[in-house]
Amino acid sequence: MSLIVQKFGGSSVADAESIKRVAKRIVDTRKAGNDVVVVVSAMGDSTDELLDLAHEVAPIPAPRELDMLLTAGERISMALLAMAIKSMGYDALSFTGSQAGMITDARHGSARIVDVTPGRIRDALDGGAVAIVAGFQGFNRDTMDITTLGRGGSDTTAVALAAALAADICEIYTDVDGVFTADPRVVPQARKLDRISSEEMLELAAGGAKVLYIRAVEYARRHGVTLHVRSSFNNNQGTIVYNTEFVDPNGEIVEEPIIAGIAADLSEAKITVVGVPDVPGKAAQIFKIVAGANANVDMIVQNVSGVATGVTDISFTLPKSEGQQTLTALTNDKELVGFSSLQYDDQIGKLTLVGGGMRTNTGVSAKLFEALFLAGINIEMISTSEIRISVVTRADTIQEALRVVHTAFGLDTDDEAVVHGGTGR
Ligand code: ASP
Ligand code: MG
Repeated sequence: MSLIVQKFGGSSVADAESIKRVAKRIVDTRKAGNDVVVVVSAMGDSTDELLDLAHEVAPIPAPRELDMLLTAGERISMALLAMAIKSMGYDALSFTGSQAGMITDARHGSARIVDVTPGRIRDALDGGAVAIVAGFQGFNRDTMDITTLGRGGSDTTAVALAAALAADICEIYTDVDGVFTADPRVVPQARKLDRISSEEMLELAAGGAKVLYIRAVEYARRHGVTLHVRSSFNNNQGTIVYNTEFVDPNGEIVEEPIIAGIAADLSEAKITVVGVPDVPGKAAQIFKIVAGANANVDMIVQNVSGVATGVTDISFTLPKSEGQQTLTALTNDKELVGFSSLQYDDQIGKLTLVGGGMRTNTGVSAKLFEALFLAGINIEMISTSEIRISVVTRADTIQEALRVVHTAFGLDTDDEAVVHGGTGR
């Protein structure tokens, strides 16, 4: 008998029909003799609808109340799912995040899990019930308040519960068949991966892949949880996200592919600090100001300074949503740093190519740049890690870039991927 954690996203429980379909699937797993813990997201786009509602009554909703509101979404789906399972003749009990022992810090809207005490979940399983847990929510012991883990946080709830319960596997059900070499909504020739290392998955998620949330992958990696990303619309084998060297059924260690996949991100903007004096300490000064504005910097590029002028330009990317506050902070300290001006560009796109095999293969970047060149796409910034290359291009060329790079690396397949939900969740 195995202990399986199953997480169903909003698109898998969007209406009564879907909830019954998911309930059947859970019952099937239970019937096969497994203990089942289910983590569920709010129905369809209901979290977005609640957020809209909040902003209609208050321009800046109080964070504590916003968490109270948003956690209601998962309460609805968990209760409905438990009812559906019970009416099929199987026992089920639903639990809020705090009842399930999801202890977090006190940060409303982006709380971090600090402890998981799933006593009631264990009791429910011991009593023969399926335990249904509301995703994305927790409880802080000091403030005694309800918190949320940030958008998409149900993945993290599932992984954290799987780790705390030492589950055999954590299944993440979604509206596509697994993790693809690229977003199948943009690249119809994208291929489903049978497996991917958590390290590669982390880079893809950081590069904008929406199939899994970065914090969930991080948590899985840190706690050694194996994930199975699969469709809730069929019984196909999905994608295994593994932590150590993957041993295939014949007992052989599988070599990492050169390229695992490509992701795109349109959520970033670029700030260029023009005319920075080329003397020690200026980068430190600039990024201290940026950090003070609570910006999460991604790529950084510093040009070689002109010998004659003794000044240089420093460009960096950050989430668009943090652009304004960062510009303001830098402008306030313009004299102190001594730069001449700031440029802001929010029409950029970032393409990220990921593969563990890059470590031992040369020519990957040359091939990437060549593919972009042949498509007439200009590269504005480049950054690399051991298993990743990211480039910044114009936003309106990013989809074309994805397609040509996908083809150049021989990742295309003939069968078109089926996308059920369409929201990416
Ligand atoms: N319902 C929350 C959201 O839409 C959490 C989740 O779906 O994982 O962000
Ligand atoms: Mg959702």
